[in-house]
Amino acid sequence: MKNKKTTPEYLWASLKWPEIEERLKIVDTAILPCGAIEQHGPHLPLDVDYFDSYYMAQRVAEACADPKPFVLPPLPYGVSYHHSEFKGTICVSNNALSALVYDIGMSLAENGIKKIVILNGHGDNAPTLKYAAQMINRDARIFVCVETGETSDIDIYNMIDTHNDIHAGEVETSTTLAIRPELVDMDKAIDGTLDFNNEYLDFTSERGVSWYAHTKRLSKSGVMGNATLASAEKGKKIWGLMIKNMTEFVETIKNTAVDELYQNKY
Ligand SMILES: [Zn+2]
Repeated sequence: MKNKKTTPEYLWASLKWPEIEERLKIVDTAILPCGAIEQHGPHLPLDVDYFDSYYMAQRVAEACADPKPFVLPPLPYGVSYHHSEFKGTICVSNNALSALVYDIGMSLAENGIKKIVILNGHGDNAPTLKYAAQMINRDARIFVCVETGETSDIDIYNMIDTHNDIHAGEVETSTTLAIRPELVDMDKAIDGTLDFNNEYLDFTSERGVSWYAHTKRLSKSGVMGNATLASAEKGKKIWGLMIKNMTEFVETIKNTAVDELYQNKY
């Protein structure tokens, strides 16, 4: 029995049912990490979005005050049809993902969860997850939100040197170098920066209009951004910022009663 590891109390799937029943009396907030298994250029592993969303959810829960929000098991697969011309990519349909997230949300509501924070590590899941969130809200009347980097993106774009860094570029290569350097092949990192010279078409522009493309038509390597500018130091800074901002957001949600969140005062 010596060296028995203690399980963090916020990991939903590691608890026993009576433990969950007790914790549900003091915690009504759960984080659902969502990712993807898809190409991330010739230098990064396929699981970046999946691994990072779960890593982030756990760091955020750790940083939260007691009682910490629940962290649910992460969903590995996402809407990645646009990367399917690159081997290794595994794609599920928008319908399958939204149906799964809807069922998980309804089941959480039945358990007594009143607030769900969907922590999305893959931008192209966003419309599908927002659709599922609306359906959960419609049917269970609980608070549901989807975070796809909104709490930090604006700061990150100001911190980095690449314009339009979208996929497997400066940001994702840096964040992976910071936590899993052994999985990054910097010899194969390239500059695949896209510039549409149009603030409405640029993916990271505040005035950008959503549009969709199969990645291979934009980039032969699968990189959209400048991976050569990545460093572990930048990655550590980006993680620090993302975890801090997301923790502030989750704390607000956790500490505010649902009725108060809706501001139904007048
Ligand atoms: Zn990614």
